[in-house]
Formats: sequence, C-alpha cells, structure tokens
Amino acid sequence: ADASGTDFDIPSGFDEQDIFAKVGSQTTIDLPQVAVVGSQSSGKSSVLEALVGRDFLPRGNDICTRRPLVLQLVQTKRKPDGTAEEYGEFLHLNGKRFYDFSEIRREIQAETEREAGGNKGVSDKQIRLKIFSPNVLDITLVDLPGITKVPVGDQPSDIENRIRTMIMSYIKAPTCLILAVTPANSDLANSDALQMAGIADPDGNRTIGVITKLDIMDRGTDARNLLLGKVIPLRLGYVGVVNRCQEDIRENKSIKDALVAEEKFFHSRPEYNSVADSCGVPQLAKKLNQILAQHIKNVLPGLRAHISRLLVSAAKEQASYGEITESKACEVDPCEDLTDDDIRTAIQNATGPRSALFVP
Ligand code: GDP
Ligand code: MG
Repeated sequence: ADASGTDFDIPSGFDEQDIFAKVGSQTTIDLPQVAVVGSQSSGKSSVLEALVGRDFLPRGNDICTRRPLVLQLVQTKRKPDGTAEEYGEFLHLNGKRFYDFSEIRREIQAETEREAGGNKGVSDKQIRLKIFSPNVLDITLVDLPGITKVPVGDQPSDIENRIRTMIMSYIKAPTCLILAVTPANSDLANSDALQMAGIADPDGNRTIGVITKLDIMDRGTDARNLLLGKVIPLRLGYVGVVNRCQEDIRENKSIKDALVAEEKFFHSRPEYNSVADSCGVPQLAKKLNQILAQHIKNVLPGLRAHISRLLVSAAKEQASYGEITESKACEVDPCEDLTDDDIRTAIQNATGPRSALFVP
C-alpha cells in the first residue's frame, strides 16, 4: 500500500512528532489522547500514576504539576527470559534512558524549574516523556496543572485564566478523552473539572468522571449517589478511586499495596456494596480502554482523511524533488490501497487498547 513512495508503516510508539519526521509535514495529527482536568490537589497526578502502575510523577498537597506533561506510553515486548525492561526517555534529553523511575520524577521536577522557575510559576511549555514497558498500553496521557484561584509565589494575577486556557487547549480537541477529577470531600456542584469538561464536551461523549479521596470524606457521608450519577449525571458515568495519601507517599507505599488497599476499601464498606464492582483504578483502566476503542472507531474517518491529505502533500513534495513525476503524484491517492481496516489496525497498534489493564 505504498503508491507515493512514502513509507506508510506506522511503528508502535510513534507520536505526532515522529509522524512529522516521517512525512516531512508541519501539520499534526490529533491522535486520541487522555487528559486529566481538575482543581489543584484533586488527585490528578495520583490517578495517572496509578493507571501507569509506576511511581514517577511529582505529587503533593501544593502545586506540583506546573507544566503540561505529555506522557506517551509505548508497549514493548518482554525479554526472552520473560522479564520486563521498563524505562523512560525525555524529548529534551534525546535518547537518554532512565531506568530508575524516581530519577524520572526528579528530572520532571528539574525540567519544570528550568522553564517555570523555583517559585510556583506555571508554564504552558510541554514536557514530553515516553515510558517504554511491556506493562502499558500504547496511549498518550496528559497531566495538566490544576485550576487555582489565588496567585501564590511568582504566579501572575490572572493565573486562574491562564491555567484554564492551557487546559482548554488540550481538552477542546474532539480526539481528547477527558478524565474530570473531583475529590469526594468537596461539593460536586463546585467541581472545576466538571465545569471545564462541560464546556469542552457539552454532550459528555468523551468525559469520564473520576471521584478521588473517597477515604477522607466527612464522617457520616458517602459518595454513593454521586457515583451513581444521581447528583450530576454524566453520560459515561463516574469511577470512584482511592489513591495514596501524603503519608503513604512519605512512607513509600507501593502502587501495588495501594491497589490492594483500594480494593479492600470498596469491598469492606456496605455503603459501596452495589457500586464496588465499578470502582477502583483497575475498573477505571478498563472503562477507559473500552471508551478509547469506541472513540478510535468514531474519530477514524477524520484521521483517515487527515493521513490521506498528509500523504498526498508528501507525494507532491517528493515529486517536486523529481523522484516521481508531478502528474503521477497528483493523480494517485496514496491512501487508495489502504482499507479502513489497515488504518484502524495501524492506529490501534500505535495508540490503541490491547489488554484490559494498565497495571502490572
Ligand atoms: P493533583 O494536584 O490534582 O495532581 O493532585 P496530586 O495527585 O498531586 O494529589 C494531591 C494530594 O492528595 C497528595 O498529597 C496525594 O497524596 C493526595 N491524594 C490524592 N488522591 C487521594 C486519595 O484518593 N485519598 C487520599 N487520602 N489522598 C489522596
Ligand atoms: Mg498534579
């Protein structure tokens, strides 16, 4: 399927930038990605980290995420002896492999400071990180700074607006799935996450509600009605999760132990009896996976047209270098030989759900 002479062979783990390099174009393709939105300290980074199954994101009860982190997970094969090699690579340190995930966290912090300073400043310049592992799905996750209202440190007076604009630039894309994160110990009607998701995705076709901190709700209250969508209905529903608290982080509680504790939490509380099976990080991963599969199907026609346009322009460009004749380049549709199935497979290989869980 290669009338243009362009090597249309999407390797797993490619991203928009790799595609640029391949087709030599300045345009990007909006491949499906997942972004987290919510107020500061609602648990966004904790949720992403739990989904990935490794500890590597700065988390805390202060502003930690100060630049967008575009996190591309790339599924690799196990080694012949069955062991898993897992490592990270930053775009800004091209090619350097980080096998120690706490070093990845330190580099995220250092790189945040390089651009946004040491005093709570926020920047919209991305940090791009790829994680290679047999235990992940090929998917792009975006960790974003949370919404804050009162400027602190070096933040400008219009910090709230700036952060909202930054978040919107990611979640407005029709190819972006939104994890709208709201802590259970705050009022859902005040949720910045649901408010912003509602603007970006008014029909709720690509917003999943995530309720964090179920473990620290006011005594005598529970989140059952909230999880059932009886407070604010959401088309794709809500998933309740319990992540590690600051003390757990200080004591280096592992993600594995946290998942065990989370499961115990949901199954030991009578009030969550009826919803326990749809709660927890593994259920969130599963739901995300299903929605992503459907979502890829929905955005496929648009992607197909876009790839086709890129290939045509690449063919024309090549023709201008005299490798193939111009007339030939104009008359062929380089995507002609590609069936929808070919493209679906290529895109799924590059982005798509393969296994049910993210966690090892
Ligand atoms: P972000 O600012 O939205 O990225 O939030 P973080 O993931 O950095 O979390 C903020 C703080 O809340 C950290 O101290 C976490 O340990 C804590 N936290 C996050 N999720 C939960 C949860 O489900 N339960 C409890 N008890 N603490 C949580
Ligand atoms: Mg964060």
